[in-house]
Amino acid sequence: MFYIDEAGIFSVFRLIGGAEAEELAKKLLEKPGMREDDLATELHTDVKRVRKILHQLSEFSLVTYDIVIDKDLNKRVFRWRIQQEQIQGFVKTQLKRIADRLQQLKKHYESNQLYWCGSAGCRKYTFDEALDKFFKCPGCGGQLMSYDPTELIKMINEKLSEINKLLQ
Ligand SMILES: [Zn+2]
Repeated sequence: MFYIDEAGIFSVFRLIGGAEAEELAKKLLEKPGMREDDLATELHTDVKRVRKILHQLSEFSLVTYDIVIDKDLNKRVFRWRIQQEQIQGFVKTQLKRIADRLQQLKKHYESNQLYWCGSAGCRKYTFDEALDKFFKCPGCGGQLMSYDPTELIKMINEKLSEINKLLQ
């Protein structure tokens, strides 16, 4: 079964909303049902900022709220909590997307002979592209040479098996 632990949950929040969102997630995991003003106090920031982060996170269904009536203040307040189930689904979808992209990349390297100057900052070209450029790299002026993708494909395969293990 696919399951993401607490550290994984925090990195999802960081990915979506930055360091502040990660701090917020820690608070909410500790004390589910916190109000916006409590979160603002604990995070040493203002309520507006907290609200903005919460709404950003709720667009991804990472957090949700219950509305309760505060009898003392006689107004509605939001009590926020993390949606752990949705986070699992979110991460799973992202991992599948990455795996798909890696598969496409692998196919690209397996089915095309590519040409490269050898410089890390420059891209690789298909034969037709390389021919167009007279085998001279438009990035650095170096010579475009036939590129052996064996190492790269090996790396992609390793990444893929890592992801597939996670998705099992
Ligand atoms: Zn180059």
